[in-house]
Parts: sequence; C-alpha cells; structure tokens
Amino acid sequence: MAVATQLTDKTDEQRAITEMVRQFVDEQIIPNAEHYDHEDSFPGPIVEQMKELGLFGVTIPEEYGGMGLDLTTYAMIVEELSRGWISISGVVNTHFIGSYLLRKFGTDEQKETFLPRMATGEIRAAFSLSEPEVGSDVQGIKSTAKKEGDEWVLNGQKMWVTNGLLSDLVFVLMKTDPKADPPYKGMTCFITEKEPGVGENTGKYQGLNVPPKIKKMGYKGVESTELVYDGYRCPPDRILGGEEAGVGNGFRQMMDALEVGRVNVAARGVGIAQRALELALRYSQERKTFGKPIAQHQAIQFKLADMATKVEAARLLTMKAARLKDAGERSDLEAGMAKLFASEAGKEVVEDSFRIHGGYGYSKEYEIERLYRDAPLLLIGEGTSEIQRMVIGKKILERNKI
Ligand SMILES: Cc1cc2nc3c(=O)[nH]c(=O)nc-3n(C[C@H](O)[C@H](O)[C@H](O)COP(=O)(O)OP(=O)(O)OC[C@H]3O[C@@H](n4cnc5c(N)ncnc54)[C@H](O)[C@@H]3O)c2cc1C
Repeated sequence: MAVATQLTDKTDEQRAITEMVRQFVDEQIIPNAEHYDHEDSFPGPIVEQMKELGLFGVTIPEEYGGMGLDLTTYAMIVEELSRGWISISGVVNTHFIGSYLLRKFGTDEQKETFLPRMATGEIRAAFSLSEPEVGSDVQGIKSTAKKEGDEWVLNGQKMWVTNGLLSDLVFVLMKTDPKADPPYKGMTCFITEKEPGVGENTGKYQGLNVPPKIKKMGYKGVESTELVYDGYRCPPDRILGGEEAGVGNGFRQMMDALEVGRVNVAARGVGIAQRALELALRYSQERKTFGKPIAQHQAIQFKLADMATKVEAARLLTMKAARLKDAGERSDLEAGMAKLFASEAGKEVVEDSFRIHGGYGYSKEYEIERLYRDAPLLLIGEGTSEIQRMVIGKKILERNKI
C-alpha cells in the first residue's frame, strides 16, 4: 500500500502544475485541435500560450530561466498535453530532448548560449537520428561530418525530423569516423543552427535545406520533414560537449537521451488513452440500444473495465520509469517497458473507444476519429515495439545472469 501511494501521489507542486495544464488543455487545446488537425496547420496561438506558461522550460534549471522540475513532473505534464492532442506534446518533446542533451553533456558555453532562450521558447530544438534507409538500426547511419580546416563539414540526408522546419536548432547524429569498429564509436552529435521556417538556408547556415513537410495520416499540425545537409559548415564548439569530449561520443549521448524520450512517449500513450477512455465513458452513457444506455450492456462494461485498467497500469509503469531516472538509477529496462506497454495500451484503448462509438467513431465530427489516426505513431517513434522488446529482453537477461 505504501508503494502504491508513493507511485501515484503527486506533490503539491505537481498537483498545481498538472491542474494548470489540464485547464489549459480543456480550454485551449481540445476545442481547437480539430481545426488545426483538419488544416494540418501549426497551432501557433496555442504554442505562444505555452511559452507564456513556461512549458518549454519545465526541466531546464532555474539558473537558465527554466522551472528546474524533474522528469516525473515533466511526464505528468506530457500526459495532460497529450490528453488534449499528441501533436502539442510533439512540439515540446524534441525540444525537451535537446535541452536534456545540453544539460547533461553540453559545455558551459553551449548551456549559456542556448538554454536561456530555450527555456522561454524563443528558440526551439529538433532531434535527428533517422535517415531514409535507417531508423531502428541507428548504427547504420550514413550521414557524415569531416573536419576541413577549423570547421566540420556535414553531408547527408536525415528523415522524419519532428519540428524540422520551424526549429532553430537540430541535434543531429553524424558519422565522424566511417572506419570505427563498432560503428557507434565513430559517431558525433552536432548542434546545427538554422533559420526557423526557411526551406533553403543561406549565409552562415548555408548547406542545410528542409524539403516540404511529409504528409501523414495523423500527428498533424507539428511538421515532420527531411533535412538535407549539403556542405553545411559547423564550428567545433558546436559539437555537443566540445570537440575533445564530444567526438566519438554522439551515439552514447543520443541513446541516453532516448531513454528519457521513451518515458515521454509512454506519457503520451497514457494521455491519449485517458482521453479515449473519457470519451467512451461519456458516449456509452448517452447512446442507447435495445432500450438502455450501451454502458448497461455487460460487453461494453467489460471493455470499459479493460480500458481503465490499461490506462492505470500504463500510468504506473511510466511514473516508475520516470522516478527511477530522477533518482539517478538505471532505468533503461523500465523506460522500455513503459514505452512498450503505454504505446500499445494507447492504441488498444483508442480502438476500443472507437468501437464503442459505433458508426459515429468513423465521422470527423467526433474527436475519437482524430485519436484513432494519432495513436499508431506512438508504436513507432523513439523505437518501435519490437525494438523495445529487444531492449527489455537484453536488459532482463543481463540483470538475471546465472
Ligand atoms: C511521425 C514521425 C516522427 C518522427 N520523428 C523523429 C524525430 O524527430 N527524429 C528522429 O530521429 N526520428 C524520428 N522518427 C523516426 C522513427 O524513430 C523511426 O521511424 C523508427 O525508429 C523506426 O524506424 P524505421 O521507420 O526506419 O523502421 P525500420 O527500422 O525499417 O523497421 C521496420 C520494421 O522492422 C522492425 N524491425 C527492425 N529491426 C528489427 C529487429 N532487429 N527485430 C525485429 N523487428 C525489427 C521494426 O520494428 C518495424 O516494424 C519519426 C517517425 C515518425 C513516423
């Protein structure tokens, strides 16, 4: 019982901030998400309000102008935002990963240059590993950076960059030693600066181009793009952690960041599932068949029971992974479990809610239609379910070696 309390309770600060975010979601996000989703347009006014609420600086230390809150509180906020619309959490997520990388590995100069403006949302960050031929197998990336004179020259094509167009910074993984064995030892993370909203960068950011955004089934509003590095010049002080510490360490840095990224995706799964459950609870008490509300049919009640159980279990796994990370414990196994379970639960609970809505679930008049298109993304981003199972399997064996 004591453990359950510890895992579910919020501190006063966490309660205050999640209530504030929930109110913002109910008033500003849920009523407007349909419009932006339909138009596939960036929710600028919502993002501006998020800046005012300080939501771009939740985990950035106070000395850099952020709130200095932990991953657990961040995960609670992400759940609330995703309950409104997962695209909104997508606007914040890569930014959060970028600020995590800077906090953990950045030089003092890099922190001072970027974190204060990131905390206010004045500049926003993207995070780029994937390429057209490589997603799961990150060690297979082909993009390269070569030192020429005092600068590094970046070439290659990146794929699926969330916030690829409107961001100001991209934390990008490049191969700096193509002969390295194993390959991950020859990879480096560069902080590449660019003009937000510009397809073809010129001047000092020349050589970084953003093709038109990728058309997607869901997760609209937040853009996903390719990025083409074509002779982009990067000074050595824009290697994450500096040239000496950073060259050859990019893979390790990015994998560390993915661990917190996975907690974030798990929290998104909880949020979207929570919303789908709420919609199903309401609809099933309103809709009548065979003379009674469908919620009175046992088959529907059982569905609701399974949905609610999955939401609660997903939330507990997510909180456990976040709290372990905050406590400085290893959480790769737990983050993998949380991501796997919560993303699958998100998809399943959304589908059950869709079924409960009958034919109306197929109509764009009903919110569940959007959730149905949005939920599958969570099975893919930050590592597919198969990749999570590989991580979990490997770690569970490591921890139980005979
Ligand atoms: C909307 C969206 C936004 C994204 N945003 C970003 C972003 O901001 N930054 C970024 O870097 N990436 C981003 N991604 C990319 C995402 O991380 C990859 O799509 C994901 O890692 C899967 O890679 P892939 O698409 O290349 O699939 P593949 O790696 O080609 O996998 C294809 C299938 O094979 C399975 N598979 C692969 N290897 C194995 C194996 N060893 N055993 C069993 N099954 C296996 C996979 O699970 C999957 O089912 C985004 C993707 C999407 C769709």
